Amino acid sequence: MGAHTSIQGGVNASIPLAEKLGFTAMQIFTKNNNRWSAPPLKEEEAAAFREGIAKSGIRFVMAHDSYLINLGAPSDEAFQKSVDAMVDELERCEMLGIPQLNFHPGAHLGEGEEFGIRRIAQALDIIHDRTPGFKVKSMIELTAGQGSAIGYKFEHARDIIGLVKEQERMSVCIDTAHIFAAGYDIKDPEKYEGVIQDFDRIIGLDRLQAFHFNDSKKPLGSRVDRHDHIGAGFIGLEGFRNILNDKRLLHIPKVLETPKGKEQLEDLENLRRLRELIL
Ligand SMILES: [Zn+2]
Ligand SMILES: [Zn+2]
Repeated sequence: MGAHTSIQGGVNASIPLAEKLGFTAMQIFTKNNNRWSAPPLKEEEAAAFREGIAKSGIRFVMAHDSYLINLGAPSDEAFQKSVDAMVDELERCEMLGIPQLNFHPGAHLGEGEEFGIRRIAQALDIIHDRTPGFKVKSMIELTAGQGSAIGYKFEHARDIIGLVKEQERMSVCIDTAHIFAAGYDIKDPEKYEGVIQDFDRIIGLDRLQAFHFNDSKKPLGSRVDRHDHIGAGFIGLEGFRNILNDKRLLHIPKVLETPKGKEQLEDLENLRRLRELIL
């Protein structure tokens, strides 16, 4: 377990911060997440990152893509820009030895979900063709379904993966706040079991390779994405207790994306609450 960790001062600045906070898993941006482009990573910087991780207590690192990327974009210009940016993100991950690039599938902007799903799969095929043999996986993050966002139903991830040529390069991340806002009740123990069984039947639990652990400021089915501290939102401690004590999910890394200041001390409190739930 761990949290999204700041790269202020460069990607290598994340490692001592994560270590200080006792994370065994972390997520980073590999560049400024609100910009289209960034200076290329230098090989010595990437090598230092790989060595730093290997020497640290951090067992798992994932990257989160830029918020600007929309692989479902109807306009050819926005689509091309997004494809180029995603290729750059995968190249950065590959250099850094990061095994998972979590991305928001995209939004159809009024063209319809079927269009969006086909567009995203088409983008991934182009992206994978341009990054042959890469080890880093393209990880679909399930979404809350705000606006015209794709990914708020397990079927969306299944359909995207089903259309992609190199399916072995695809994985899925459950963001607890997102799926709860999308209408999946992980709080009630019985309904929780149904949600996990649905995921397994529709996508397959082997594709589930990370969790974003966030409580939700908005109620079940609200389709609004607002992260809250663990236990402070509508999911409550119950929901996290369900996941943390599920033997099928013990090996899957869990990363917080809850509100935090520069020192990330809030993460310590959220992790403490989570550890107390493990029976
Ligand atoms: Zn995200
Ligand atoms: Zn997330």
